[in-house]
Amino acid sequence: MVKQAPKGPVRRAPKPIIIGNWKMNGLTAATKEVKALNALLKKAGRIGCDVMICPPATLISTLVEAAKRTRIAIGGQDCHAQVSGAHTGDISAEMIKDLKGKAVIVGHSERRADHGESDAIVKAKAEAALRAELTAIVCIGETEAERDEGKTLRVIGRQLKGSLPDTATPETVIVAYEPVWAIGTGRTPTSAEILTVHAFIRKKLMDRFGDQGSSFRILYGGSMKPSNAEEILALANVNGGLVGGASLKAADFFGIIEAA
Ligand code: PEP
Repeated sequence: MVKQAPKGPVRRAPKPIIIGNWKMNGLTAATKEVKALNALLKKAGRIGCDVMICPPATLISTLVEAAKRTRIAIGGQDCHAQVSGAHTGDISAEMIKDLKGKAVIVGHSERRADHGESDAIVKAKAEAALRAELTAIVCIGETEAERDEGKTLRVIGRQLKGSLPDTATPETVIVAYEPVWAIGTGRTPTSAEILTVHAFIRKKLMDRFGDQGSSFRILYGGSMKPSNAEEILALANVNGGLVGGASLKAADFFGIIEAA
């Protein structure tokens, strides 16, 4: 297991967080997964990380209710940059806040690819999250073609610069590194590759935000599962995970939480 970053700054470790991104999955019956997860967390006693689930907007209210008085926070997936208005099908950060959501995922590669969202749009959405007092979970990551062309760090640098609000703080923004080619594919980068990108993100955060840059949480996302979570979460500058497929079943998600 590789534990040390090859080079670059290593920070005071922020408390890890494991966030489940349910994407467009889950009917009201999926509430049972939150209840099952809570039962597992209760049985486990102390855990070393914060826990959040970001269901589709249709389930935020139901899951907030199901997660009351538990260690599970509920967030949303994506928001419009505006507070309200003529934007059929969209929801605002304030609406997520109104439902007692704590955070919102913005800039996910599926939004960037399927909805043509640019860094500027992602930044506006992240700013909307901060305006509504939600934590902005800002996703960045290179495509397979970009990695093959040796452009990974250039792309990550550009996305970070363009997507993060200038007012970001470690309390209000979480960065999630999600290589597009690792999402839902069962493939993950090597530990050395993750170390390199996370050290680069840390350096960029410190260049831009000074000492505060050392306290931002940087999550890894992309085919994380109970069998690889321990190795990934032990890496320097990996402060938790953003988990898609494996967050849908309480037992799998708990396996990752236990590894943190
Ligand atoms: C994601 O899309 O945020 C993600 C990490 O998906 P998966 O874990 O399924 O690769």
